[in-house]
Amino acid sequence: MSKIIAIANQKGGVGKTTTSVNLGAGMATLGKRVLLVDIDPQGNTTSGVGVNKADVANCIYDILINEVEPAETILETMIDGLHIIPATIQLAGAEIELVSTISRELRLKKALNAVKGKYDYVIIDCPPSLGILTINSLTAADSVIIPIQCEYYALEGLSQLLNTVRLVQKNLNPHLMIEGVLLTMLDARTNLGIQVIEEVKKYFQEKVYRTIIPRNIRLSEAPSHGQSIITYDPRSKGAEVYLELAKEVISYE
Ligand code: ADP
Ligand code: MG
Repeated sequence: MSKIIAIANQKGGVGKTTTSVNLGAGMATLGKRVLLVDIDPQGNTTSGVGVNKADVANCIYDILINEVEPAETILETMIDGLHIIPATIQLAGAEIELVSTISRELRLKKALNAVKGKYDYVIIDCPPSLGILTINSLTAADSVIIPIQCEYYALEGLSQLLNTVRLVQKNLNPHLMIEGVLLTMLDARTNLGIQVIEEVKKYFQEKVYRTIIPRNIRLSEAPSHGQSIITYDPRSKGAEVYLELAKEVISYE
């Protein structure tokens, strides 16, 4: 059985892309077949696994707008078992173009139905907004992982996200669940981080992952080398924690 997980938070810079790439790479390293779906026009997941966007013939845009078969867009990565549906800047136009199309919220779901059987996990990296691309992702997904940065105002904006999840549950995808809440970029040297952890745990309780992602310089370097942390620096703290997270997520199968 395959599971489709959206990584969502309309705030930018909270670790969605870092988590998509490295959770996906971690799962694949543990022997799972994983499909990453980049649905952010910035295409950072795409370049983050070493795909040169200039060489991409068909991307997620073509699936959503031109009804190109998803199988025609899937690319392999340097990690065995880790594939990707890439995004390019072309996707920036999709928000507007989808407005006038029929069943615009269901486009991604329909497309993924055709390929999800080949994978254990499909991980969708959402853009930093609650627009139609994120709605498509939540509609296609079985569950959502919410990364939260251990910073001031960590919970700010979360009620909007949870509201959107409820709206999707009510109108488009009744079985959508919250898979888990992931604390990211913890700076262990400050008390602030500890306060944020407590605040988030009070709010989300057992939904908060045991694995907490610390700030790790190697995690921020890996994307510029077109690699996940698992291949870029397997001995780093970043690789250790994302493998740990992969095990934790898989354990909830
Ligand atoms: P989002 O996709 O939510 O916008 P990103 O995953 O792109 O967030 O992360 C924002 C920035 O922070 C990126 O430059 C990324 O490399 C860096 N980053 C993410 N997680 C960590 C971490 N745990 N330690 C250090 N840098 C990180
Ligand atoms: Mg991102």
